Amino acid sequence: PVRVRFAPSPTGPLHIGGVRTALYNYLFARKMGGQMLLRIEDTDQNRFVPGAEQYILDALAWAGIQIDEGQGVGGPHAPYRQSERRDLYQQEARRLVDEGKAYYAFDTADELDAMRQRLEAANAPAAQYNAITRMQMRNSLTLKADEVRARIDAGEPHVIRLKTPRKEEVRLNDLIRGWVNVHSSAIDDKVLLKSDGLPTYHLANIVDDHLMGITHVIRGEEWLPSAPLHVLLYRYLGWEDTMPQFAHLPLLLKPEGNGKLSKRDADLGGFPIFPLQWTDPVTGQVARGFREDGYLPEATINFLALLGWNPGTEQELFTMDELIASFDLAQVHKAGARFDIQKAQWFNHQYIRLRPDAELAPAVQQQAEAAGYDCPPEKAEKIVALLKGRVNFAHEIYGEAATIFNAPATYDEAIVAAKWNDDAIRAATAFYDALLTYAGPFVADDIKHLLADTMTQAGIKQGKIMQAMRVALTGSGAGPDLMLTMEIIGKDETVSRLKQALQ
Ligand code: GLU
Repeated sequence: PVRVRFAPSPTGPLHIGGVRTALYNYLFARKMGGQMLLRIEDTDQNRFVPGAEQYILDALAWAGIQIDEGQGVGGPHAPYRQSERRDLYQQEARRLVDEGKAYYAFDTADELDAMRQRLEAANAPAAQYNAITRMQMRNSLTLKADEVRARIDAGEPHVIRLKTPRKEEVRLNDLIRGWVNVHSSAIDDKVLLKSDGLPTYHLANIVDDHLMGITHVIRGEEWLPSAPLHVLLYRYLGWEDTMPQFAHLPLLLKPEGNGKLSKRDADLGGFPIFPLQWTDPVTGQVARGFREDGYLPEATINFLALLGWNPGTEQELFTMDELIASFDLAQVHKAGARFDIQKAQWFNHQYIRLRPDAELAPAVQQQAEAAGYDCPPEKAEKIVALLKGRVNFAHEIYGEAATIFNAPATYDEAIVAAKWNDDAIRAATAFYDALLTYAGPFVADDIKHLLADTMTQAGIKQGKIMQAMRVALTGSGAGPDLMLTMEIIGKDETVSRLKQALQ
């Protein structure tokens, strides 16, 4: 069975690109009838940020990405936080040393610096600890066995490094990128276990993917350069037969397409790149979130799903279930995907229209009441029905309702000049009179009939005076359905606005 994982590091707020990675994992798992795991990769203690793990859980829950196993859910491979699994990594790292595939290294930061400087001075192609340079350093390949033992027993700080082969071809067949070939001379002797006893990302990631039975590693393209090293690690650990398949997702690019999307883009461009709002626990700085900016989760998901994938049809609107049904890793693009926030707004516009009026009404009521207007729930709901098709965000509905709450203070002069003629004045007067004696229900359909009957009796073509009527009632020449507008403002207000216009 397919088993995938989302393996974020709690080093800050989850980036929207991380949500896309989680989403693609989720879609693939669901599509294949498999499972989705959440593993917290927190082995870099210097970069640990309090609150970041909870943020990840909240963000995934908000987005509707369900975790089957892992942090926050539990499961047979617990614990799912890497900082609580250090024995497992140490055990595998030592096994590699025992098998001659890794070694202890005692070099200090100064010694490593000196090596780098020597290499730079000699114009060596890449400054690295590898099959050649390791022979000049202090490690268990160059020191005598009893000295190594003595140093370790004395508690001297040391790391375990991978003994990368000197001349070997490392190949992997990425499900999105195709064949990737790397010569082992391009891979340095990566640290597997740090001096604090914690593993590096590479070791922990491979050990866990293996132990947790991961079949597919779906992650961002920034990890592609590490993939050959990972293949090598699977080989050395003796797990090559069950090595997962890799799928590296395309980068998210800035809106203009010039380079990778970054936190700075959010700061400068005024749009969110985090799913939820985040307050930095150290600096107190607040970063905006999609949720707080008014994006609906279903719109965000739909937007993200199409950043780097499409089903090859014209369809743009997908529910989560439809995404699951159509998703295919083979259709994920290689090229970077431009992060077009206007597209996200367009999706939100589509999904706001689909939300039930009653759900959007309380916010409108609140905004109206905060501004001192009377707005019972029933009225708020009608306002939503009238206006939700005209906005990108729910919080914009109230702003569109200005002409509902206020009689016009001014009238569009161009429309007045063009349309407020004798017929229009006669029509407004006749309708005003008709309203004074009208005792029926004041709802859009009845208002429509009343207006039509009144115009017929007055011998006025309705089409000719409608815009004038709209200006009289709202001050502007264009807007939402006028009959519904009258229904919402009510009979008395309609009468009073006509009177004001006729003065
Ligand atoms: N912890 C890594 C990250 O933060 C995981 C990369 C991977 O999926 O292998 O992105």
